[in-house]
Amino acid sequence: MAMKKKTACRKKTTSENKCASRSKKTKTESRQWIIADGGSWVEKKAPKTKKIVVDGKTYDIPVDKDGFVSESSLIMRFAQVDDGDRDDRTRSVNRDLDKTASKTLKLGDKIRPEEIAAWWAHPNESDIIGIDDENTQVFTTEGATRKSSLPYQRKIGIVGTPSERRQVRKALDECFTAGELKKLTADGSVYVFASDERKNLSGNASGYYSPSDGMIVIRKGATSGTIVHETVHRLRHKDTGRTGKFTSSKVNEHARAAKDNPERAHYLRAVEEAGTECETVARMSPFSMNGKRTSYYGALARDPDGARKLMAEDRKLLVGNADPDKKGLKGKKAVSSVEKNFTKTHISSYGYGGEAANKYGFAEHGCVKKTKARKRN
Ligand SMILES: [Zn+2]
Repeated sequence: MAMKKKTACRKKTTSENKCASRSKKTKTESRQWIIADGGSWVEKKAPKTKKIVVDGKTYDIPVDKDGFVSESSLIMRFAQVDDGDRDDRTRSVNRDLDKTASKTLKLGDKIRPEEIAAWWAHPNESDIIGIDDENTQVFTTEGATRKSSLPYQRKIGIVGTPSERRQVRKALDECFTAGELKKLTADGSVYVFASDERKNLSGNASGYYSPSDGMIVIRKGATSGTIVHETVHRLRHKDTGRTGKFTSSKVNEHARAAKDNPERAHYLRAVEEAGTECETVARMSPFSMNGKRTSYYGALARDPDGARKLMAEDRKLLVGNADPDKKGLKGKKAVSSVEKNFTKTHISSYGYGGEAANKYGFAEHGCVKKTKARKRN
């Protein structure tokens, strides 16, 4: 729905945004972008693969520079439920995890594609110990706090220490409804803590979401706020029922605009990040889970304390209070609060490449007051 009345956009007088992130030329489709926070949105390079033939069918198995298969690649293959069943049925992650198959594979640290070829072709016919056997740690739901979300938590693989896995599961249950986790995992979802994926966490990036394969990477030691932020990116992308101006994903539109309309690409990127962060601020439960994280508010203030003050003001606007011990919103309540209040928030003035997030509202949805992006400190 287009905005017809005047909005509460606040006037900004500062000029050019000097965002530390750099725009890279794109020649690829949207699914090839990585939405990195604190670093650049970058094109995802196609992984190196090795061709393996099983029963006459060729599979491209991703390998690292030395030709080995990573644990995260195995987990992601396991989560691709639409492929791998001999009768073309959708594979059941839960059924596979509930029982260890009669054929099992125990792998060392260095995994060659040939070793796991049969499993790769049909993951539901054998189990890799530690990946999809009944005692796997990757898919354990320890840390989950709600029974209704367990079927969806079971579809989320987490590579990390036991405390990191518990941190993710708890954040998901506290900040998202079971229905939202269902949408999040409808076609598989994977969380990987920075380890073998660290190379994609450029600069100070705290995390990233890769729309092409559903991978979320969280830097080790990140606060739960980062987990919520990256999860919101994926939910925006996967929840096709989202039609709101500021709460629907801009990832695909951004990739199209990046080819021939860089100005539009800049504000689409800004609104994807500001909208995602705005929803993160609304959802955090309790608010103290954010820790000392400043996220994109860091671009709006002189110092971290100033950034957290702006975040607390937005929290109050979105939730009604900024009490560190109180819960945030989730489900439709979170989405509606962001849609209703976004143009009044501080975070809506976040800009990229000199184009503020709220310009999306002015240029494409009839919001009336023009503002410029704030200077990034
Ligand atoms: Zn982000």
